[in-house]
Amino acid sequence: MGHVAKRDMEDLLHPVLANGDTGVHLAFAEWTLGLDKTLCRRVIGSEPPMVTFRDDACLTCANKAMGVAIHLFRDTDSSVVDLGQLITTRDAEDQRSRSTDMA
Ligand SMILES: [Zn+2]
Repeated sequence: MGHVAKRDMEDLLHPVLANGDTGVHLAFAEWTLGLDKTLCRRVIGSEPPMVTFRDDACLTCANKAMGVAIHLFRDTDSSVVDLGQLITTRDAEDQRSRSTDMA
């Protein structure tokens, strides 16, 4: 194999802010190498996120990560998010609030 240092899956992505959006997005940790877009293809903001990904996740980014077989993400030093579980939870919450809207 090549000379790429082995990383754990949950360290491949970083939480970032995106220009024009308040949520927390995901970008590859190597984004400084020119990959200056979030996984949902927004421009990465210059400020670090003030909340965790779990608190205000961009589900498009989460789905994109799952699409490239990354399903774990280190949200904080002590917390790793299971992206599949987070998406499932959010989908269930969305459906609940949607059915409340329609009632
Ligand atoms: Zn995003």
